[in-house]
Amino acid sequence: MDAVNLLDYDLEGLTAFCEQLGEKRFRATQLFRWIHQKGATDFDQMSDLAKSLRGKLQGVATLKRLPVISEHVSSDGTIKWLFDVGGGNAVESVYIPEDDRATLCISSQAGCAVGCRFCSTGHQGFSRNLTTGEILAQLWHAEHALRQRLGTTERIVSNVVMMGMGEPLQNYNALVPALKVMLDDHGYGLSRRRVTVSTSGVVPMIERLKHDCPVALAVSLHAPNDALRDELVPINKKYPIHELLDACRDYLTAAPRDFITFEYCMLDGVNDTDEHARELITLVKGRINCKFNLIPFNPFPQSGLHRSQAPRVQAFARMLADAGIVTTVRKTRGDDIDAACGQLAGEVQDRTNARDRMLRQPVEAKVAAPKPGERNRHAH
Ligand code: SAH
Ligand code: SF4
Repeated sequence: MDAVNLLDYDLEGLTAFCEQLGEKRFRATQLFRWIHQKGATDFDQMSDLAKSLRGKLQGVATLKRLPVISEHVSSDGTIKWLFDVGGGNAVESVYIPEDDRATLCISSQAGCAVGCRFCSTGHQGFSRNLTTGEILAQLWHAEHALRQRLGTTERIVSNVVMMGMGEPLQNYNALVPALKVMLDDHGYGLSRRRVTVSTSGVVPMIERLKHDCPVALAVSLHAPNDALRDELVPINKKYPIHELLDACRDYLTAAPRDFITFEYCMLDGVNDTDEHARELITLVKGRINCKFNLIPFNPFPQSGLHRSQAPRVQAFARMLADAGIVTTVRKTRGDDIDAACGQLAGEVQDRTNARDRMLRQPVEAKVAAPKPGERNRHAH
């Protein structure tokens, strides 16, 4: 029988596993803390666990880390890891340090079945779901490798965003225990507002997440009407915009924040005109408490799409802001290492092509509200 990977368990699962071994509940908590808080890689390191338990674990359990294929460190501090998940598949995580926080962007699947037109993961197709252990191994690695490097026992990662490869809500059963470990005080101890699930809009799973583990929610909207969204985010044909907005509104009753973040990838001439902005305002205004995050498109060769010009993005952002909708534009990060989230696939299945791509990890930059008098200048 294969050894059980203890990274696959949340605390409840680990407790059940320990009980099967005839161990008391508090032993599971100790073990859990050794794994996630102290980053132990070996049962022998777990000095306050009874020798007999350590002996039992050696035979039946393992802590399965993900082999690192590559690590790239940007001059701005962004770090990108490529992890081997076997079978020719790899996934990426990106660490983004900022003044007041350090965010880790992690993957939920190898590939993605949703097939968004502007996403290179989507173009690659779906390979497989990651396990809970594989989702958590990305966080485990970032947290403990960086602690070791910086010579600290202090917590490093303060925020996690599920914005790497894959659609997290199409890997729901593995996702939820992973989120629980991130939130657990005996695990990574992150607050619910500091863990964000980003989704293309898997409506029934938004409803379930609300009950099971209501963390912060980001929704990839990208279009103000169904005709265009059907084309860009094909899952819209199954769950059209009005159903998605209903699910978002309902989610807010349990969410840790009182708004939903809508992500909107700015595509030149496709979804970035004044008319699109007006339609978007009509769509959400008074219907849902939301913020917009405008993402400059990261081009890749097969997409046939182009990034909107910076002044167009600014004008679009101002229209939303003038309508009273809080809007941010992401700045790119890690340019010199091709760090990215959301379109990581190119490098995975076709590593030789990776340099041709502009994989960039964006971070938020607030759009300043226009000063009085400036308004008209920008509006035209
Ligand atoms: N599947 C989830 C989470 C992963 S994608 C989702 O779609 O939300 C994370 C974010 O990156 C999404 O908002 C997605 O729309 C965006 N994204 C994907 N490809 C991109 C690209 N080429 N340029 C900019 N953003 C992209
Ligand atoms: Fe999948 Fe998200 Fe990419 Fe769409 S944007 S293909 S849902 S990873």
